[in-house]
Amino acid sequence: MVCHTINPRLFPEQLVYVINNAQDKAIFFDKTFLSIVSNIRDRLETVEEFVLMSEPDEEIAAQFPGLLFYEEFLQRGTPNANWPEIAENQASSLCYTSGTTGNPKGVLYSHRSTVLHALVAAQPDALNLSARDVVMPVVPMFHVNAWGVPYITAMVGAKLVLPGPGLDGQSLVKLIDSESVTIALGVPTIWQGLLSALDELGSSAKTLKRTVIGGSACPPSMMSEFRGKYGVDVVHAWGMTETSPIGTVNALLAKHDTLLEGERNKIRESQGRPPYGVQLKIVGEDGHQLPEDGVAQGNLRIRGHWVVADYFGFEPNQTLEEDGWFETGDVASINDDGFMTIRDRSKDIIKSGGEWISTVELEGIAMGHSAINEAAVVAASHDKWDERPILLAVKIPDANITEEELLAHYQGKVAKWQTPDRVIFVEALPRNATGKVLKNKLRSEYGEVLVNRPAS
Ligand code: ADP
Repeated sequence: MVCHTINPRLFPEQLVYVINNAQDKAIFFDKTFLSIVSNIRDRLETVEEFVLMSEPDEEIAAQFPGLLFYEEFLQRGTPNANWPEIAENQASSLCYTSGTTGNPKGVLYSHRSTVLHALVAAQPDALNLSARDVVMPVVPMFHVNAWGVPYITAMVGAKLVLPGPGLDGQSLVKLIDSESVTIALGVPTIWQGLLSALDELGSSAKTLKRTVIGGSACPPSMMSEFRGKYGVDVVHAWGMTETSPIGTVNALLAKHDTLLEGERNKIRESQGRPPYGVQLKIVGEDGHQLPEDGVAQGNLRIRGHWVVADYFGFEPNQTLEEDGWFETGDVASINDDGFMTIRDRSKDIIKSGGEWISTVELEGIAMGHSAINEAAVVAASHDKWDERPILLAVKIPDANITEEELLAHYQGKVAKWQTPDRVIFVEALPRNATGKVLKNKLRSEYGEVLVNRPAS
């Protein structure tokens, strides 16, 4: 059967949509999700089995007619069943994109794409995993199969540590220490909590050698804190649900050994190089390939052995460009060593008076201020410039900082016209279940704050 991992934080309508769209036959779920599943059950068109991952419980069974408990389910199996021979192009798993606009889209992975992805991901210039490693993905299974880590660790024979629901910094530090985790993977927000907890608990995460950070851009300040304070290497990586997910991983080249540490760190900020098996290019609005000089920026396209061909259930040939490339929706530059840097998502980048401003860069600078915990930059409408950047920032608890002080922090780091027009301090940033800031929500809330203000 095909394993479809589901994001339980989707709205009920979206949950019903993805389960029906995928034509799921059996749903396995934890007790935490019992009420969600009960509430949508009547609208699920293809599900025949509901299996609760728990010991039999009569009270629950009475509330949910037909419910199977996991142990009962196992007893129905045949211990000596023969494994079928499966063609390599047959489907093995299915994940949906997060669907911030419109319905989530399904990406169906084959046995072949999953094995090729795992083979390449384990290699030295990619995640560099071996049987000696203890690997902790702090990534939900529904987020591109926990970035493929369960398959990669099984392939190399590494120990796999799963944090379950304990995703706060303190629980993660304790788990790293008690299980001797050597490599952990996750999105930047997760590591924000971990870094504060390391400080509070006085732990040095002794066994941890590397964190692999992706999903959204890793702020440079986070890299230097991991490396400088704890001796933990940060490996920046980029990928998508549509790319299984690995598209690039940042592994330095031998020629970088002679550079100064600061110069090496600058290179590490890029999202890295594509491994064998995928190719990247950047194109302008007219679809023409742009130079790989580290300066030109354009729409990022990717193709390769673990890149989607057609979204699940879509008509054939609707997903890729004519020449087989997948349009990622990201704006990037690529340098002559093949290192790719994400400038922004094309729908988030700010177009101010005809010039582009990277929200990723402005956020990284804000996060580098010691009083700032989280930052998001979005476009606000502007009478003269069409769009101007505004910064939404969350302070470190008890920190004192004014709008003027934070804006002064941009001096000398970006051109004056790129500096945000306003700073708005907020309690928290809205995020989706995979830890990404919901910029469309911020735009609809704050997008008009500059309108009718005198032109700057
Ligand atoms: P969704 O598209 O549903 O949000 P994905 O997890 O597939 O879910 O998101 C892929 C996108 O995440 C990429 O197109 C890119 O915009 C962003 N992304 C992933 N890794 C990075 C990274 N290291 N730096 C910047 N952006 C990243």
